[in-house]
Amino acid sequence: MQPFSYRRAADPSAAIQALSVGSANDNPLTKGPVQPLAGGTTLIDLMKLDVMQPAAVVDITPLSASWAQVKLDGDTLRLGALARMSDVAANAEIQSAYPVIADSLKLAASAQLRNMATLGGNVLQRTRCTYFRDISYANCNKRNPGSGCAAMDGVNRTHAVLGTSDHCIATYSGDFAQSLIALDGSVEITGRAGNRSIAFAELHSAPGNSPQLETTLAPDELISGFTIRGRWPRSVYLKVRDRQSYEFALCAAAVALDMQDGMIRDARLALGGVATVPWRAAEAEALLRGQRLDDVLASRVAEAAFADAKARPQNAFKVALGRKVVVRALQQAASMEI
Ligand code: FAD
Ligand code: SF4
Repeated sequence: MQPFSYRRAADPSAAIQALSVGSANDNPLTKGPVQPLAGGTTLIDLMKLDVMQPAAVVDITPLSASWAQVKLDGDTLRLGALARMSDVAANAEIQSAYPVIADSLKLAASAQLRNMATLGGNVLQRTRCTYFRDISYANCNKRNPGSGCAAMDGVNRTHAVLGTSDHCIATYSGDFAQSLIALDGSVEITGRAGNRSIAFAELHSAPGNSPQLETTLAPDELISGFTIRGRWPRSVYLKVRDRQSYEFALCAAAVALDMQDGMIRDARLALGGVATVPWRAAEAEALLRGQRLDDVLASRVAEAAFADAKARPQNAFKVALGRKVVVRALQQAASMEI
């Protein structure tokens, strides 16, 4: 681990001021010489591994008084970026109005991690690709742009089958992000240029030719919170993993349905563990609208969700498994009693 300095930000403007230092020519790997520190459960790990080497970290947890709030006001849910995963997962209003959110948080990481980790840090977690996290491998385009990709012909069983490029096939490993993208969430961002709000779907960048560019955030910007409009009591997060506790998703589905008398009025579907970025299966979910769910329709949706999949021999199982996860998640959501 490289030496670094630590400071606590008293308020958002102090944090932004600290992040603004030297942000013009940032190394995209470290997102700048100064990194925000929230729960630290990703950042400190990567600093210990020397994958990230910021000269300084600015602790933003003192902003929790205003940025950790969770509020359901009518049909609008506001989640502060510094809210802890465990607090949001245990929130009774969220469990009843947005089970997909509560479950995507509850099924992530371990209880100890969820007690430390924040929502903002969660959506900005970085891939678990072994070659990215082990600096003894030189060829990782994400960590070392232009160096190649060791995973292409290496161990890639857990890698992505959707949204890949010739330069990177690393899986986006988070769970909560699939709920946000499924429910059309938005992200509130604050930075030197002021405040802005974007669709959550615009936060992450697919690898394309530049896998090192993972988000559309500027180095001096912070996420202050997330907003979701509308309630989704009929929603499910189904996660399949190598072991039933404390593991990243191999395949996951976030499903939300709005049904009346058995008819699907609106439907949302996002996929976890199988794509390079949080993944909305928009064409697949469109097949559900105005229909009644049966086994044939569920299978058609699952096929459509993976129609563009590009698998390798080691991770081809994710396509078959992912389809089953989609079918089961749809069936679970449709049969919920609400
Ligand atoms: P930090 O480590 O503090 O920050 C993460 C990154 O986000 C850093 O780059 C930091 O600079 C930046 N950042 C943090 N907050 C902000 C902000 N408000 N604005 C701008 N930038 C910010 N996650 C899952 O989803 N599913 C799992 O199954 C899962 N399993 C895990 C298992 C293990 C063993 C571990 C260690 C982690 C696992 N995780 C899993 C990831 C875990 O959920 C994340 O580490 C955690 O959510 C990150 O939150 P944090 O507050 O600790 O972020
Ligand atoms: Fe690096 Fe991406 Fe290749 Fe993994 S898949 S080695 S993160 S370029």
